[in-house]
Amino acid sequence: MTTATPEQPADVVARLRATFRTGRTKPVEWRTTQLRRLRDLLKEKGDDLAAALHTDLGKSSTESYRTEIDFTVREIDHTLDHLADWLRPEPAPVPAHLGADATARTQYDPLGVVLVIAPWNYPAQLLLAPLVGALASGDAVVVKPSELAPATSAALARLLPAYLDTDAVAVVEGGIPETTALLAEKFDHIFYTGNGAVGRIVLRAAAEHLTPVTLELGGKSPAFVDSTADLQVVADRLARGKFLNAGQTCVAPDYVLTDPATAAALEPLLASAVEKTYGADPQRSGEYGRIVNERHFDRLTGLLGSGRVVVGGVSDRADKYIAPTVLADVDPASPVMGEEIFGPILPIVTVDGLDEALAFINDRDKPLALYVFSESAETRDRIAAETSSGGLGYGLPLAHLTVSDLPFGGVGESGMGNYHGRYSIETFSHRKAILDKPLG
Ligand code: NAD
Repeated sequence: MTTATPEQPADVVARLRATFRTGRTKPVEWRTTQLRRLRDLLKEKGDDLAAALHTDLGKSSTESYRTEIDFTVREIDHTLDHLADWLRPEPAPVPAHLGADATARTQYDPLGVVLVIAPWNYPAQLLLAPLVGALASGDAVVVKPSELAPATSAALARLLPAYLDTDAVAVVEGGIPETTALLAEKFDHIFYTGNGAVGRIVLRAAAEHLTPVTLELGGKSPAFVDSTADLQVVADRLARGKFLNAGQTCVAPDYVLTDPATAAALEPLLASAVEKTYGADPQRSGEYGRIVNERHFDRLTGLLGSGRVVVGGVSDRADKYIAPTVLADVDPASPVMGEEIFGPILPIVTVDGLDEALAFINDRDKPLALYVFSESAETRDRIAAETSSGGLGYGLPLAHLTVSDLPFGGVGESGMGNYHGRYSIETFSHRKAILDKPLG
């Protein structure tokens, strides 16, 4: 169940598998009861989670409710509203050679015992939203919170067993040794959110057992801006999307790609958007988060030397604070453009137009998200047609992942598979093909 018990990963998995074999998790009633209990947890103990998130990441309560707690409640409500519909067997046409009395359909079967490994940046949402999908699919679930968000991990380990069926849902806390031990076990699906290096470890471990995986990874998500856009609106939305959770958001705009004239016009607007959102001194704003730990703080401050500082550029290690920072005249070969930033630094890189922007994007790994700020239908259409990314957002960063009826996931280096809403049922179930030919 939790690390409070000496139960080993192998025993946890065996215990959950025994429960799954009894068929207890399969009825829709069990699934909806678990979802309602999870909803009760979020309603009754949301403040406990918000406090933990504040401890781990300096998130304000408003931000925690918006991006983690209420986000998950919405995912639960959407699932409860539609689950019966999603699970309904789908008839399929039968070819003539099987006779007129034959029928065919698909049916969703739970997979069995699944593992959800969560990261630290949205440590509640990114553990609980996959859990919603797994419970809705009738699976038994082991969840592994991130050790880098220890307060949230402890809160989840305390709260989940108090609300959910502990014979079918287990929390295993810990870091690399515990995760490695879990990965040695046979699961029926592994759902991992985090970086690509560990994604490869997960995929290798899964291969041993022929276990299917979903990898929700990251990467550098570009924001393309052209001169047709209302740059005031662009600056406001970019600043909000980028600096939420101090930039530690997998779908945050990583960098701005624009032409030199638009860049020059955008710079002061981004500076004023930061001030409008977080005040003259963001360190004193209750709404601005902190960097998760010193290692990431040091990595990020090492990236501040690229380009020219438009706004921000200051930091305070004792407070794990890095100011919302915009860098202009950034060389594509500079360190800040060499890796996913995953922090509050927004470089502006200039290109001489759409063709060069498309080449720039397509020369790099397929991003998790791509944002386009343009009033030109032709530009928007060309970017949709000529690039590949996990998601595409016109005019508003981050928001596509709040649409429960859209699949959320990456492609190529940004991941494989997807979830949210009915796509979670696809991920955590097996769609079984059934042919029925009467014997008579
Ligand atoms: P992290 O360090 O918390 O790691 C994620 C999980 O992997 C943790 O549970 C951790 O215990 C486990 N882990 C770490 N090292 C391991 C190892 N050697 N073997 C087995 N398990 C191990 O999180 P992170 O990777 O730093 O997260 C940041 C990355 O995640 C960024 O690249 C970001 O873009 C990506 N991300 C993607 C999404 C998405 O939905 N696609 C969401 C959030 C974050």
